[in-house]
Amino acid sequence: MMRGGPMGRGYLTEEEKANRPKVTGPLLKRIFAYLLPYWKQMILILAAIACSALLNLYPSILTGRIIDEGLIARNMGRLIRLILLSLAVTLGANLIGVGQNYLNTWIAQHITFDMRNKMYAHLQRMSQRFFTSNNQGDIITRMTSDIDGVQRVISSTFTSILSNVITLTAALATMYSRNWVLATLGVLIIPLFIIPTRRAGKTRWDLTRESQECNDEINGILNETLSVSGQSLVKLFGKEEYEYQRYKAANSRMIKLNIRESLAGRWFFMIMGTFSSIGPMLLYLVGGILMMQYNQALTVGDITVMVALLSRLYGPVNSLLNIQVEWIRSMAMFTRIFDYFDLPVEIDNAPDAVTPARTDGSVVFSHVDFSYEPERQILFDVSFELKAGKSVAIVGPSGSGKSTIINLIPRLYDSQAGQITFGNVDVKKLDLGFLRKIVGIVSQETYLFNGTIRDNLLYAKPDATEEELIAACKKANIYDFIEKQETGLDTMVGNRGLKLSGGEKQRLSIARVLLKNPALLIFDEATSALDSISEAKIQDAIEPIIQERTSILIAHRLSTILAADEILVVKDGRIVERGVHADLVKLGGVYTELYETQFKKALEAVETAAG
Ligand code: ATP
Repeated sequence: MMRGGPMGRGYLTEEEKANRPKVTGPLLKRIFAYLLPYWKQMILILAAIACSALLNLYPSILTGRIIDEGLIARNMGRLIRLILLSLAVTLGANLIGVGQNYLNTWIAQHITFDMRNKMYAHLQRMSQRFFTSNNQGDIITRMTSDIDGVQRVISSTFTSILSNVITLTAALATMYSRNWVLATLGVLIIPLFIIPTRRAGKTRWDLTRESQECNDEINGILNETLSVSGQSLVKLFGKEEYEYQRYKAANSRMIKLNIRESLAGRWFFMIMGTFSSIGPMLLYLVGGILMMQYNQALTVGDITVMVALLSRLYGPVNSLLNIQVEWIRSMAMFTRIFDYFDLPVEIDNAPDAVTPARTDGSVVFSHVDFSYEPERQILFDVSFELKAGKSVAIVGPSGSGKSTIINLIPRLYDSQAGQITFGNVDVKKLDLGFLRKIVGIVSQETYLFNGTIRDNLLYAKPDATEEELIAACKKANIYDFIEKQETGLDTMVGNRGLKLSGGEKQRLSIARVLLKNPALLIFDEATSALDSISEAKIQDAIEPIIQERTSILIAHRLSTILAADEILVVKDGRIVERGVHADLVKLGGVYTELYETQFKKALEAVETAAG
């Protein structure tokens, strides 16, 4: 089909028309700023484009001299010299074209290189909110296709505008300098040729789109009704005839469209063929009349030059008419990219951010309110204190806001009210890099990069020694497993760690956090999906760690909860109970209920597994 074919590209889709970008001074200025660093190369390109456009026209002009001075004057030497000159000029133009192409690609690649890097760096600074609320596909499309589009614009649209304008001007100037009557005639013929071509192109493009939709519909029907479950539905409801009629109708629409499309093509080629021969004939006729009847100073060569140049006008005029569409498309692309650049960095370093020499890892929440979206508050007046070296377990029903509380500490999100301090400094005043380095999180969903176990561990501490790696793995209770692997630490973990079990992944991520040696360790315990033995291994790993450093645990198992110094019970975004297990369990409130429904069962399961 014709989708994206040379003719199809010349017309905007309805969607593109509706989203036509506003081309403003600042937008152009911004685009220009990306080109500016390459101004020297740009000037070279301009010169190259001008040279090659002019040189390309020259052979047409030489044709006149070949006829007048060589053929008609019967001068063999001159004829050969002119032919050689014409060949040399063509060769020169093409050589310059190669250089121009190279420069073009070079500039376009460099500009998009700059743009990609800038965009990537910018996206890295975007907050968690950006990534949770934007489709990953969209983000990647902007990084790839949109920027590729920009590259195409720079390497082809800009060049094409320039070279077409130059060719057109030079051709017209030459024509007028020879004979204004013939030149004007040539100009008048252009619309005759261009308008029908464009109309035919447009009709064809519309038909193509329509037949594509029709094709999608037919495929839909086939997919739905010829699948196993679709067929059984059709049979059970006795819909065979109905489906047959539906298919037939779509099919006949398709056939009509195809016939019309092919006819539109016929007309198109017919018109193109006719006009491209009518034009020269008209010039010969009028030229002949002028030369024979009015005895104007016209030579055969002059008329031939006119005809040759006439054919050189069509191309540039046609592409300049298409340029508007390309221009709108490219502006839309730039606008989309700049929209991303304009997204504010929500969570950024404060201008007076501090990097303390040391910190004790203590955390204080005072009256913290938080919402992800303005209309729905998630945390209400959360206050608690975690002293250095101590540990606190956060428990509560699913969706109560436990993960949200911990997300606020490394500033994945910022609270709207209240204050959070880390080591007695407001987190919003701490250097972000420092804060995130000093807080270690083992999350429920462990993310591992495709690579070896060692690669994943070194991500936390690139200069870790072999001994440090092994010690961390031993502490995290994963070393037994690693030792059993033939390649040890160099075992591949697979895409996102999929070659490892859930428990192995989590223990590996505990080892990774230990290497980071954080002042505060946050452990978001997996809610489920682990067998009891695997869980017991994680427990064994995590308990001693909790004892020796400041930690916050989102806990679902009694053993983890019991290992903590204090328990906070969260419900609907509020801390509703706090204290130690023995007291809380007697309260008969939220904690007691959680104990009865969750913790006890989990405990029994572990005991059975162990026993
Ligand atoms: P679980 O034990 O199931 O992990 P949780 O107590 O950790 O639950 P949170 O993840 O903190 O609960 O979620 C608290 C509430 O915030 C939920 O109602 C959830 O729908 C909402 N929420 C979580 N993340 C976002 C987000 N990125 N944008 C909007 N709402 C969110």
